[in-house]
Amino acid sequence: MHEMSLNEGVLQVLQDHAKSQGFERVKTVWLEIGELSGVEIEAMRFGFDVVMKGSLADGAKLEIIRVPGQAWCMPCEKSVQVTQLFEACPDCGSYQLQVTGGDQMQIKELEVE
Ligand SMILES: [Zn+2]
Repeated sequence: MHEMSLNEGVLQVLQDHAKSQGFERVKTVWLEIGELSGVEIEAMRFGFDVVMKGSLADGAKLEIIRVPGQAWCMPCEKSVQVTQLFEACPDCGSYQLQVTGGDQMQIKELEVE
């Protein structure tokens, strides 16, 4: 499962932060997930609990922040919102879109102790 390795990546970042910032427990993780990232929220939540078990983030809460997809439409010469990759421009119907945001997943904030 793709989301399993994503969670392992999150844990890796938490461990690095714990080392460099000197905390021992993670209580809450705010994760930004772009609508175009292809990440399944439910699978992410499930994988989070499994992967964090026994780690510094065992029992931590996962808060998910959805980031809307953004793309630059070349014919319109403006930024538009898209909900899927390879979607047409909602204004002019063109497929000449360049994704500019909402295609990533990243840790936004941590509550630690
Ligand atoms: Zn357009």
